[in-house]
Amino acid sequence: MTWQEELRENICTIAQLKKHMDLSPEEEGQLREIMRIHPMSITLYYMSLIDINNPDDPIRKMAVPSKEELNAIGSYDTSGERENTKMPGLQHKYRQTALILATNRCAMYCRHCFRKRLVGLPTAEIVRRFNDAVTYIGNHKEINNVLITGGDPFVLSTKVIRQLLDKLSVFQHLDFIRFGTRIPVTFPNRILEDEELLTLLANTTANSKRVYVVTQFNHPREITPDSVAAVESLICSDVIVNNQTVLLDGVNDDPETLAELQNKLVGIGVNPYYVFQCRPVKRVKTHFQVPLYKGYEIVEDAKKLLNGHSKRFKYIMSHLSGKIELVGIMDDYIYFKYHQAKDYDNIGKLFKKKLNTTAGWLDEL
Ligand code: SF4
Repeated sequence: MTWQEELRENICTIAQLKKHMDLSPEEEGQLREIMRIHPMSITLYYMSLIDINNPDDPIRKMAVPSKEELNAIGSYDTSGERENTKMPGLQHKYRQTALILATNRCAMYCRHCFRKRLVGLPTAEIVRRFNDAVTYIGNHKEINNVLITGGDPFVLSTKVIRQLLDKLSVFQHLDFIRFGTRIPVTFPNRILEDEELLTLLANTTANSKRVYVVTQFNHPREITPDSVAAVESLICSDVIVNNQTVLLDGVNDDPETLAELQNKLVGIGVNPYYVFQCRPVKRVKTHFQVPLYKGYEIVEDAKKLLNGHSKRFKYIMSHLSGKIELVGIMDDYIYFKYHQAKDYDNIGKLFKKKLNTTAGWLDEL
């Protein structure tokens, strides 16, 4: 079976889900309602990681829709992606980085996704004329790297990925190319079964641009022999693998779990890069977001369990004004620093806000 055939076996309907877990008639009704708004798609691999006897299983929470998704508090565009879009599928928010939305598909539709508005759904936000995006990047010499994301760009065929890399690799002003992909975590076979992809990535690094993969491990149980093998294959193909964990209620919101995850990632050769505050996304916020003060305490307590190498990540809120690091809490104030900023002059700027115990986002302080 090819990886494409394997993906077609994904669990996408209630009937398929019921072959793996029990659902009450009430749950079934709620799931149907949610799936009319946001589709479900779970790889058989990821399903095998779920403890089906535990309704509160953290792996299940990231994959299986829950009734909490009926709560529509929040926004579908929490970091100003619409206003940073220069043409369909091309965003340019930070001076040095261009972002290409290469597809609206993923191997799995994570329930906590911040691009929930588009994954698995009809959208005009995906790159339509790749050549126009390439021309934009070619004309903007201040861009030194491109992040190819989506959806998950590794669901594209290797032929399409080759075309993307070939077009971008010619630019002298690009130092490196990144892929944002959760496929090492949700569908490692995509990587393990495609030698051609690995050779392409290795050759791109060897001949033109260094390739990075930015992935998203959120729980230690996602580190399995298969995901480790996928990471290992990428590393052996000269790809540098970084990780962005999303801090998620009921998944990794305790210091021990978070620390174990970061430590194990370092052990398998993955660099801790960010821990992201979960965005106030519609149908995500109410059941996944941890209040900022609590998130700060969890992250700091996790850091006490980590060596210097494993705590290189920054705890970041990806806000419409920029990437804001949570640097501390003191005397009823929470202190922030712009790690990246849409307004260039704000980079590095420190500021503080009066603390409250319910705020999950800067605008709530
Ligand atoms: S793989 Fe990434 S883009 Fe796709 S649903 Fe999961 S978090 Fe969202």
